[in-house]
Amino acid sequence: MQKMVDTFRRRGKSIGLVPTMGAFHEGHLSLIKKSATQNDITVVSIFVNPTQFGPLEDFSKYPHAFKSDCEKAQGVNAVIIFHPTVADMYPDGFQSYIDPGPIADRLEGAARPGHIRGVATVCVKLFNICKPHRAYFGQKDAQQLAMIKNMVKDLDLDLKIVRCPIVRTKTSIAMSSRHNYLSPSDLKNSEVIYDSLKLAKKLIDEGATDVKAVKTEMAGIINTVPGVKIEYIAFNRWDDLKEIETIFGKILISMAAVINEVRLLDNIIINRIV
Ligand code: AMP
Repeated sequence: MQKMVDTFRRRGKSIGLVPTMGAFHEGHLSLIKKSATQNDITVVSIFVNPTQFGPLEDFSKYPHAFKSDCEKAQGVNAVIIFHPTVADMYPDGFQSYIDPGPIADRLEGAARPGHIRGVATVCVKLFNICKPHRAYFGQKDAQQLAMIKNMVKDLDLDLKIVRCPIVRTKTSIAMSSRHNYLSPSDLKNSEVIYDSLKLAKKLIDEGATDVKAVKTEMAGIINTVPGVKIEYIAFNRWDDLKEIETIFGKILISMAAVINEVRLLDNIIINRIV
């Protein structure tokens, strides 16, 4: 991979990188398509990264769909698939990790200790291997996006991070590879996650400024749907993710909920200026 990207760079070709864990849906494809419109070559990495999973998480169960992923990516021009093994990325003796700082301790980091550090480490490795001019990340994983942007700035990494909007199903659920584990009725129940985010936006548009009060309203509608367990609802300043109590400025409203042991994430970013 390194020799190939060096050749592209020597020839003046621009390279976009889309890091993924595979099992593609329209969300992944939107990132790949965006990169293809902005770069000569798009490298799509497919790597289920063990260092971002905790010991009790679903690493071994994570869906693999390499053949169909390749077929889906082939539909987009000038795409190269990079599909390393765990031993390629973490050979014997591997011991160096990136510490992303306090941004890693909140939200997903609080719920999944070590997760954000694992994401940071694999992304730096992918940046060094694929040498992209631009890398594409979905707002779906908003903390990951914020952390990567911050890390690129802090460590003077020479690439641009491009934020891509959340792609939703027809019923407005944020698309996720984990939907493969859910029954149609679980999926229907999961619609309440985005409903609660829309309710938050409505309350804020109508003048609500108190985080606690808005969280209570959100929890109220989620708790009306059986089987949907809130893991967290959080309000953080975008994009350093400091926790807030009063709603003002650019804010990430995010949540994780568990349905039938499947964790789903969703978020919105709002900008309250008055
Ligand atoms: P993953 O394979 O889950 O690690 O995701 C790879 C990339 O796709 C990440 O940057 C995600 O944020 C992005 N992504 C996943 N789901 C969606 C979605 N529904 N809309 C937009 N981007 C997404």
